[in-house]
Amino acid sequence: MKVIRIHEHGGVDKLRYEDAPEPKLSSPTDAVVKLRAASLNRIDILIRRGLTEKEANFPRILGADGAGIAVEVGKQVKNIKPGDAVCLYPASGCGGCGFCITDREFMCPQIRMLGESEDGTYAEVVRVPARNCFPIPANLSFEEAAALPSAYTTVWRMLVTNAELKHGEHVLIRGAGGGIATAALQVAAHLGTHIIVTSCDDGKLERAKKLGAEHVINYTRSDFAKEARQMTGKRGVDVVVDCVGGEGWVKSLAALAKGGRLVTCGATDGAAPQTDIRRIFWNDLNIFGSTLGDRNEFQQALNFVQTSGTQPIIDEIFPLRDAAAAQQRMENGRQFGKIVLCTDG
Ligand SMILES: [Zn+2]
Repeated sequence: MKVIRIHEHGGVDKLRYEDAPEPKLSSPTDAVVKLRAASLNRIDILIRRGLTEKEANFPRILGADGAGIAVEVGKQVKNIKPGDAVCLYPASGCGGCGFCITDREFMCPQIRMLGESEDGTYAEVVRVPARNCFPIPANLSFEEAAALPSAYTTVWRMLVTNAELKHGEHVLIRGAGGGIATAALQVAAHLGTHIIVTSCDDGKLERAKKLGAEHVINYTRSDFAKEARQMTGKRGVDVVVDCVGGEGWVKSLAALAKGGRLVTCGATDGAAPQTDIRRIFWNDLNIFGSTLGDRNEFQQALNFVQTSGTQPIIDEIFPLRDAAAAQQRMENGRQFGKIVLCTDG
């Protein structure tokens, strides 16, 4: 089968389009899935560059998110059968620790992620635990389904489980183009909230308005914390989605109303900003960190997509062999929505 693999860390030139043996069933609880599409996440770039905590085994097929057709399932598998269209929950745990036995495998100290500890979805075929296979919502293409798992599970955990975002509340989303930001915008819009979006790109802000943002702020021209406070009668917003970090982190805290909630799942602009801790306790702020979410949260996100008729925002679809160009687009910060790879399949 054709795959995109890395044999060493480095730039996009390390992404090799090459042949690899097709994975076979290795346990009675596995499934083999013929992939039709995979989507990119920032973690793919961090793994390629060698910037994650885990030691990589080479060669490694990248990719955490995918969708396709189950072609073979182990003898004990009950939840899917060959021929089913599925999208993939990307994490598996050790199965025995306190997190795993309470179905929070994404917190397992021995977590194994597709594309990191296991060969991933930048491939024509992948092997996964069958319990990580979920039926694709009826309204979605394979490309759209591949865009869902990591971004929408994380957003569901951040906004619904952790921040408990409610109808009528004000939410500020930092950034307008990434997979998390666009998914957060869709979920927040569906919940009936007042949405403020920040970006340095006026074109992206215009697109955010079309997806339901009430106010948009170009942060290169004004202080988004001050503007957000003005827009809310000096009160501040109820929730901030900050997956950017860096210098703007301080402004994210300043934009929050008393008792406000900040959710974070990334730090693309810098992971060690200056923080005045007093602002957190003076204002009774809550900060929630998230990485992915559990299978239940993934299922809830899938149900949301199905019942609301939401379609994930796809930025661009590249053939699998052009994964380097796709990752370059993400590294350049050009995208609006999810970048997807498709197989010929
Ligand atoms: Zn575990």
